[in-house]
Amino acid sequence: MQFDLTSEQKMWQAAVHDFVAREVKPLAREVDEKGEFNWQAVRKMGPLGLLGLVIPEEFGGAGVDAVSAAIAIEELGWGCGSTALSIAAHNGLGTAPLVLFGSRALKERFLPLAASGQKGLAALALTEPDAGSDLQGIRTRVERDGAEWVLNGAKAWCTNASIAAYIIVLCRSGENGFNQVLVPANTPGLSIAPPEKKMGLRGSPTHALTLANVRVPLDHLVGEAGQGLYQTLQVLDGGRVSIGALAVGLAEAAFEAGLNYARERRAFGAPIANHEAIQWMLADAATEIQAARLMVYHAAWLKEQGRPYTRQAAMAKLFATEMAERVCRNAIQIHGGYGYSREYPVELIYRDARLMTIGEGTSEVQRLVIARSLIREK
Ligand SMILES: Cc1cc2nc3c(=O)[nH]c(=O)nc-3n(C[C@H](O)[C@H](O)[C@H](O)COP(=O)(O)OP(=O)(O)OC[C@H]3O[C@@H](n4cnc5c(N)ncnc54)[C@H](O)[C@@H]3O)c2cc1C
Repeated sequence: MQFDLTSEQKMWQAAVHDFVAREVKPLAREVDEKGEFNWQAVRKMGPLGLLGLVIPEEFGGAGVDAVSAAIAIEELGWGCGSTALSIAAHNGLGTAPLVLFGSRALKERFLPLAASGQKGLAALALTEPDAGSDLQGIRTRVERDGAEWVLNGAKAWCTNASIAAYIIVLCRSGENGFNQVLVPANTPGLSIAPPEKKMGLRGSPTHALTLANVRVPLDHLVGEAGQGLYQTLQVLDGGRVSIGALAVGLAEAAFEAGLNYARERRAFGAPIANHEAIQWMLADAATEIQAARLMVYHAAWLKEQGRPYTRQAAMAKLFATEMAERVCRNAIQIHGGYGYSREYPVELIYRDARLMTIGEGTSEVQRLVIARSLIREK
């Protein structure tokens, strides 16, 4: 395994970092306060390749390697949790099923759209009001009617639904099968509820949807009939690397804020950075961030090599997201009372970080995935 980034990856990291520092981070507070998606920055992301991270160049994407994709999401997370979550969901959930399993015709029609972002982003609707971790319990149905698929059901917590050009919907088909079906955003019968009122990530729209006799052509099936759940689990492996990367970025931002504050704030005649209790928090944070980053990059590297990485993706997500909570919590502690104020960034980062142990598989689900793989293989 490589132990350092390649020169191309370092250049990519620097370019994304510069863009995020200019266009994304300065608006993080505003998008949270207003609950508005940062279209201003996202419109500029298409030409940079940030909307086509996993989309091959022949379909208009950047097609970067998996470590570079993780780096991009980490940098976005450093800038703004909301924007990063929407871009992570767009790439990792909305475009990945098409890239991995879509027919050539579907790829040609929808991937260039997704990579440019001009008609909206991409979304994946798995979760339902009564089924999240247990995807076998979903009830949205798809049935064939002549030359069309007909979808009926309800989905919950779909990131980007209101700003998507298309939504890929996981549906039950027949007795035991599942299909992934691509539904363009303007399809009659698809209704998108108002955005959920969330604790954080308020600049990333999340919606419930209903599908009432939604009809799409048969060629909107993504991948193979009956294989939708299996395909979804593969997509989620990649998504988990991405959420791990986002958590590393959030933690890095909180750590930097804590470090800067500790250098400036004085108590008992000295900067608080001189007090050992503060130093331990800073040292632990830097160490855990580095450990999580290496786990995320390692899982991404395995993915890039085409090697199994389900366990490593689950481990990286589990460790990075729980680490981010600890680091954000301590960054607030370092700020004292000011850490609890909206005048400082750490309370926002803390609220955003809280989702990371839940979305794309809770920490409990990651532990199940890891344990099952250990029991099976060791
Ligand atoms: C901001 C946000 C964005 C989201 N974006 C999307 C999206 O774009 N697309 C999408 O499809 N979904 C999305 N989700 C949904 C998210 O993936 C689910 O909330 C998550 O998978 C958990 O499912 P659930 O909420 O139904 O919880 P449940 O599955 O009901 O779990 C409740 C609790 O029980 C625990 N639990 C469940 N089963 C077990 C078990 N076997 N062993 C131990 N503990 C268990 C869970 O870990 C959790 O603590 C989003 C959610 C949020 C909040």
